[in-house]
Amino acid sequence: MALRTLAQAHGTPLFVYSKAAMLHALAAYQRGFAGRNAQICYGMKANSTLGILQVFAAAGCGFDIVSSGELARVVAAGGDVKKVIFSGVGKTRVEMRGALTAGIGCFNVESEAELDVLSEVALELGLRAPVSIRVNPNVDPKTHPYISTGLKGNKFGVAHSDALRVYRHAASLPGLNVVGIDCHIGSQITEVTPYLDAMDRVLDLVDAIEAAGIPIAHIDFGGGLGIDYHGDTPPAADQLWRQLFAKIDARSHSGKKIMIEPGRSLVGNAGVCVSEVIYLKPGEQKNFCIIDAAMNDLPRPALYQAFHAIVPVSITNKTAATYDVVGPVCESGDWLGRDRELNVAAGDFVAVLSSGAYCMSMASNYNTRGRAAELLVDGDAVRVIRQRETVQDQMRGEQLV
Ligand SMILES: *Cc1c(COP(=O)(O)O)cnc(C)c1O
Repeated sequence: MALRTLAQAHGTPLFVYSKAAMLHALAAYQRGFAGRNAQICYGMKANSTLGILQVFAAAGCGFDIVSSGELARVVAAGGDVKKVIFSGVGKTRVEMRGALTAGIGCFNVESEAELDVLSEVALELGLRAPVSIRVNPNVDPKTHPYISTGLKGNKFGVAHSDALRVYRHAASLPGLNVVGIDCHIGSQITEVTPYLDAMDRVLDLVDAIEAAGIPIAHIDFGGGLGIDYHGDTPPAADQLWRQLFAKIDARSHSGKKIMIEPGRSLVGNAGVCVSEVIYLKPGEQKNFCIIDAAMNDLPRPALYQAFHAIVPVSITNKTAATYDVVGPVCESGDWLGRDRELNVAAGDFVAVLSSGAYCMSMASNYNTRGRAAELLVDGDAVRVIRQRETVQDQMRGEQLV
């Protein structure tokens, strides 16, 4: 169905996702894992809308969660709790209790202090928590510093040099059951080398940990594979995994279960945000194209100077001009694209591309803007998977003094 028709029927800004594109992205991983003992856990913080989770759950995915709220979403979407892994540096006791009681598959533990607390909480419940420890392989993923996570100077994981000691500590705790090892080196990674280096570093640790008498049943290799935003050329998931399995096999670890946590690469290019041009505003130095989507809907440019392609929804014969594409929010940081050549007029629709990941899940109500509606297109069928948020929705829970 034409985006223009959808925008007219449902209003703007409007996120539109393609189920076929999501399953196509997933299929590349599934091809890479054919014949292997592997589990894909969708890194759901990329887009945690229930209808999106439902598609991945039905396709057999587990989920990588980072909060108890995300666990509740997995349950609401009909996901399999046993296929949930819980990542994040700041899990609370309440969150641990909830996840243990629900029976999740594994906790990816990020510090020694967390190991101690998790063991205590599990013992209180008369359970043993399945854990893997997130190790920091200290490789440079060559991505934006805000989304690079596997280097020494950041808050994630346990240092490579400390990992064996931390594993010994974990194995000594009565409330824990050590089952795996985990790493996640960053996001929007477009090169193979950082992954290959990280796998070498992780396999070194697996050898050392197993030599110390602690068996490792699974290797969780995180997510982070990039997508094409603007001429980016990330490796295809199946080709990447062919190379990674060559390493795993060469080092006699073929028997281990492989888990991964891809987020962006499963949904990023499956969604667009359709927006209406409100005004064209010529200026002395710049022309502005003011649209009805803003940084509260599409936070990535303001947050990471990220690039989203922006295209007119219908081809017109208007003359093109160069614009900074901005939203109505009262911040100079509220821009969506700079110096874009566009042939549009007020009232036309534009599509902000590659908006399936880290857009709606990061959306806010800044400027008391309701969050956008979301549609899932499945062949000829179009389903509303999130209604446009009303101002009443936003004020719910607030009280006058
Ligand atoms: C964010 C995150 C992911 C998903 O990352 P993508 O770049 O979206 O693939 C996976 N694992 C962990 C621990 C994360 O924090």
